[in-house]
Amino acid sequence: MKYIGAHVSASGGVENAPVNAYEIGAKAFALFTKNQRQWVSSPLTEKSIQLFKARCEEYGYTPKQILPHDGFLINLGHPDQEGLQKSRNAFLDEIRRCEQLGLDRLNFHPGSHLNKISEEACLDRIAESINWVLDQTKGVSAVIENMAGQGSNMGYRFEHLAYIIDKVEDKSRVGVCLDTAHTLAAGYEIRTANGYKQTFDAFDKIVGFKYLMGMHLNDSKKEVATHVDRHDSIGKGVMGNLLFQMLIEDDRFDEMPLILETPDEALWKQEISYLYNL
Ligand SMILES: [Zn+2]
Ligand SMILES: [Zn+2]
Repeated sequence: MKYIGAHVSASGGVENAPVNAYEIGAKAFALFTKNQRQWVSSPLTEKSIQLFKARCEEYGYTPKQILPHDGFLINLGHPDQEGLQKSRNAFLDEIRRCEQLGLDRLNFHPGSHLNKISEEACLDRIAESINWVLDQTKGVSAVIENMAGQGSNMGYRFEHLAYIIDKVEDKSRVGVCLDTAHTLAAGYEIRTANGYKQTFDAFDKIVGFKYLMGMHLNDSKKEVATHVDRHDSIGKGVMGNLLFQMLIEDDRFDEMPLILETPDEALWKQEISYLYNL
């Protein structure tokens, strides 16, 4: 079973996200559980939590169909102690929000070295951050998203994901989310039958499909290996159709949220039905 959806708005409260997802025919959705551009948001109210749970049940969204995304300010590999601790505290708050909502995974961007520490030191910090947060929480997995490799962002090689996972103590609560646009921009040619096979064989060997807990389905405005992260609507960028067709037919991507993060939300309904019809 494929669960295809989009990163929908939670404006006005998290309880609006399942409604927004249902309205576009989504069988999965992503959301921010707080303002993604602020360090601190007010706690979720009991009313919001209860409504969110009730609506997910009403519309048939179970935790494996929901992939919350953390805020953009968090850098779990931050080179400075102050920035690192601020990020860890914010990430802890995000995981706790997911716990409160009865969710089982939180998608996050691994972190950036900001050209102040080595890539390896940054990856070490990210793993330590995950351990620090998992120690204080339960039931929610930290889902590392692969990156395009823009700026000093880590996570653009499958080896980075494997390195982090290797240093996480509780392997049952760490996972991976692959973003198709990031994967291409990072240098993995996933658009051809051959490239697709090679890329996902490499992913399985280096990381392992057992860690895959979600996908972001995005077309890309930027070419392979450009290390530039620019999503496009399905069919409008450089990705072509074959990748999505292969993905939809591939049962390694069953039973997990497959989330559109494409720029034109007016097209989401159409994109979802297009993907289901492939
Ligand atoms: Zn992301
Ligand atoms: Zn993404």
